[in-house]
Amino acid sequence: MLIVMHHHATDDQILAVKKTVEAMGLRAEPIPGSMRTAIGVLDNQGYVEDAAIRELAGVREVIHVSKPYKLVSRDFHPQPTIVDIAGVKIGDGEKTVMMAGPCSIETEEQMHAAAHQVKAAGGQILRGGAFKPRTGPHSFQGLGIDGLKFLSDAGRAVGLPVVTEVMRIEQLGPVCEHADMLQIGARNMQNFDLLKEVGKLDHPVLLKRGMSATIEEFLAAAEYILAEGNSRLVLCERGIRTFEKATRNTLDLSVVPLIRSMSHLPIIVDPSHATGKRSLVPVMARSALVAGAHGLMVEMHPEPEKALCDGAQSLDPGGFEKLMIELGRIEEFLTELDA
Ligand code: PEP
Ligand code: MN
Repeated sequence: MLIVMHHHATDDQILAVKKTVEAMGLRAEPIPGSMRTAIGVLDNQGYVEDAAIRELAGVREVIHVSKPYKLVSRDFHPQPTIVDIAGVKIGDGEKTVMMAGPCSIETEEQMHAAAHQVKAAGGQILRGGAFKPRTGPHSFQGLGIDGLKFLSDAGRAVGLPVVTEVMRIEQLGPVCEHADMLQIGARNMQNFDLLKEVGKLDHPVLLKRGMSATIEEFLAAAEYILAEGNSRLVLCERGIRTFEKATRNTLDLSVVPLIRSMSHLPIIVDPSHATGKRSLVPVMARSALVAGAHGLMVEMHPEPEKALCDGAQSLDPGGFEKLMIELGRIEEFLTELDA
């Protein structure tokens, strides 16, 4: 529930509303705006009887929010959230952030080569998976903790923050120790226990959309993290499962402007997992920028033909460099258009 105060409401009136809400056993969070203050009501399990609130002095309107999310919504938090990942800022008004690197961390040499290539082309965050959620148990499962070390060393060597996936609560300790950003993959978007634990941390989080998740379910998953206190959250559209088999998934680009209007959280696009095809990655990456994405996550491998995972969708260093140049030009054009 959201209580909207009159623009001339006094501080005492706002405080009286807050106290009334708290006396009902609920949490009240005032959200000052440029025109008027709103008060978000939290912790209610269902509909809240609002008669006692409506008649208080200074109250203009009471809006019942029936959506399963509140903290992530623009109604509740109109100002955009900017997430800082070890100095790299992502969100409204910031430069587009490119997160790139191999699907999996394979060797120390591979990660160092990838780190140099990502850095040289202008990427801002290095990616690489140590704990891999593979569809079958016979595929390469990742190097685990050894891999985390290769990733953080490579990132440090070139001065790039690193992002890596965490699949289980027990992995949070080592992953937080080595990574600047925690990735929750599509398969774990509704691992609610993991979401809650990550919500208790102060680490930036990248939450990928589940492969069959609706936008409402995606935002409700994000709500789990914010509800525990961590609002350093970036969303990622990575394609959804549809009847179409020509691409690995179906990239739902409309989700970018939609989520930007519904939520204050930054949203990025992963065209690699969305398409599964190297040839489609650059054009969909460019399209994502036009759609309003705050950043991208792209798989790039020093030698894609030798990759242990997702080689077919990985750009090679030359392809990545070319894409970065194109994206720079598109960003300039979009800045001019918006000016
Ligand atoms: C990944 O980023 O390597 C990955 C497994 O992605 P997703 O969770 O989107 O499938
Ligand atoms: Mn991958």
